[in-house]
Amino acid sequence: MGASSLKPKRGSTQEEDPPNSTTALLSCTTDSSSTPPKSTTTTVPFVSLFLAACLALSVTGAFAFLFFSSSPSHSQLNQKSEHVAEFSRPLTKLSHPVVLLISSDGFRFGYQFKTDTPNIDRLIKDGTEADEGLIPVFPSITFPNHYSIVTGLYPAYHGIINNYFFDPDINDTFTRTTGGSDPKWWFGEPLWETVVNHGFNASAYFWPGSEASKGKWTCQEYFCKHFSESVPFKERVDTVLEYFDLPSDEIPAFMSLYFQDPDSLGHDVGPDDLEITEAVGTIDSMIGRLIQGLEKRGVFEDVHIILVGDHGMAGICERKIIFLDDLAIPKDWAESDWALLGIRPPVGYPLPEIVDNMTKGLEEVENGKHMKVYLKEDLPQRMHYAGTNRIPPIIGLLDEGFIVTQSRPAGEDSCGGAHGYDNKYFSMRSIFIGHGPRFPQGKKVHAFENVEIYNLVTSILNIKGAPNNGTEGFPNYVLLPRVAVHDDRRIRVGSENVFDTCQVPRGEGVCKADGT
Ligand SMILES: [Zn+2]
Repeated sequence: MGASSLKPKRGSTQEEDPPNSTTALLSCTTDSSSTPPKSTTTTVPFVSLFLAACLALSVTGAFAFLFFSSSPSHSQLNQKSEHVAEFSRPLTKLSHPVVLLISSDGFRFGYQFKTDTPNIDRLIKDGTEADEGLIPVFPSITFPNHYSIVTGLYPAYHGIINNYFFDPDINDTFTRTTGGSDPKWWFGEPLWETVVNHGFNASAYFWPGSEASKGKWTCQEYFCKHFSESVPFKERVDTVLEYFDLPSDEIPAFMSLYFQDPDSLGHDVGPDDLEITEAVGTIDSMIGRLIQGLEKRGVFEDVHIILVGDHGMAGICERKIIFLDDLAIPKDWAESDWALLGIRPPVGYPLPEIVDNMTKGLEEVENGKHMKVYLKEDLPQRMHYAGTNRIPPIIGLLDEGFIVTQSRPAGEDSCGGAHGYDNKYFSMRSIFIGHGPRFPQGKKVHAFENVEIYNLVTSILNIKGAPNNGTEGFPNYVLLPRVAVHDDRRIRVGSENVFDTCQVPRGEGVCKADGT
């Protein structure tokens, strides 16, 4: 989940990542500042086409503006896929749809090309993949992103704005160890709550937020595990598989499964070390174990597996550090540092003046040009990182691969990895792979932000989700139309005019022919 200190050098690391100009063009832009739906995605093919057009036609800046401002992202998503099956595949054994959401922490997009990953490859080949990666929310940090994935909300709205933060309104501090099970920190409606509120079982084999009671969800031992990184990965997989041995209507409709690798190694050795390659192989073997177990039970083709990561990883080295001591920033003002600087001066200090002074100071210090300081309200709107007092009033954004910390460490230069940077950077992207009856086989979709996943899951499960920052129609562009199964009824979807859903909570009525 994230070391925050440079570790001794343990092998060669490559610290350079794609140049900023390119990664900026690859970025996803979003425009909502609260919960309304928004559109996403700018793509590599579009960028390539644009550059080619510029060279050949010597087009003007005005044309460029028109080009970038006219492209409905969802039509791009559709165009990218050449294969569209007519309907989802019917369930053969399970009595209701099941989503198994798996996270591999710090699985940077591209790790899957580092070594043979036959099991992940199988999910990709027979399923749907974001072939330019999954875009994290800002900040690209573990807890904020995991909770965005299961709530569809940006951190400013689900409350977990960092792995560690202070809430001035309640005068209390969240930490991963002390805040995990206290509902006062966790806003929004996570998937496990949505699912149990609809009368199904849900399970969580580790996931940030799952230990907090919300709605009808309580973290009870059989279906919810309290985080312990020492639990072997095999044991986690085998426990999830055992849930499929339950009577059909007791099988959780939503299950989460979490692996803390390859993030921890990524911090230690950086994203390009051989040890990362080994960790990726381990994750792939766990996916293989899972597939085998599901096949043995005859349910593999019935289960919706969604494999994601929370963020990527960028290489860092000590010579790319900025020191707060050089800027005369007191130690107790910094609530976060490293890849994301958060400064909360004592009440009464003039914030704009501090930003001005820091900006002037950065002109004078080593590597200072690689950090830009903002009042949080002045951050780019696409970051959605202002709407709560939990976010410190002053934010420093680092260029990719640079870090900020209080003072010079003793010892020699060392290298490692970090995340938390602007989510525009390609190195911060992770993976999205979906496999199961509602996912078209062999479909590729463009990169999208992970707040879209909540609506994907509720659509697969055919339940009504809570309001969120995801795009309402997004599932229609990724998933196959439903052959609905509800309380042993199957409703064939024949045209757009026919209801394809049944919204009656399980056990609370019967679906009518029109799906109401
Ligand atoms: Zn981490």
